[in-house]
Amino acid sequence: MPEQVKEKYQDNGLAIPVMAMQGFMVDGFSVIPFEVPHDEGVTCFAYLISGESFGKLLYMTDCIYCKYNLSKQGINHFLVECHHSDDLLEEYESSALRDRVLQSHMDLQTCKEFIRLNKTPNLRNVILCHLGHNSGAGDYFVSEIRKVTGDHIPVMIAEPGLTVELMKEPF
Ligand SMILES: [Zn+2]
Repeated sequence: MPEQVKEKYQDNGLAIPVMAMQGFMVDGFSVIPFEVPHDEGVTCFAYLISGESFGKLLYMTDCIYCKYNLSKQGINHFLVECHHSDDLLEEYESSALRDRVLQSHMDLQTCKEFIRLNKTPNLRNVILCHLGHNSGAGDYFVSEIRKVTGDHIPVMIAEPGLTVELMKEPF
């Protein structure tokens, strides 16, 4: 990252520059950013956040898929994008928008497979975020994701006002 860009962000106090795979601390939480594929020419990061009380939370959005195997991380909470479902895409009026969405955001099937591959007995919560054009399909998305998490894991849609108690242990 160029020095002047770094300084600009640090000086305004609003943001800190981050680099892939270089962990940093924020308010006692450890954060590891890693790159995820999104739109061409745009660098997007997902964040693996660890804290004493809640364990590990993965925040991953604006990405098509995750190229890393995170199953050894024993993640406790997934806060991940579940943007659209291919079987509902005919709702898009414009094919340009449809193509852009397909090429840059995570669909239900990819999300489902990601959770299936990376879930461990440590999993406590799944929160789906960045629902796109078919955000009305939230219930359907939840029921599909529950097929891989099992009934004992809460699967939620991130929406204004949602509060989730993040705990490392089951109770
Ligand atoms: Zn987006």
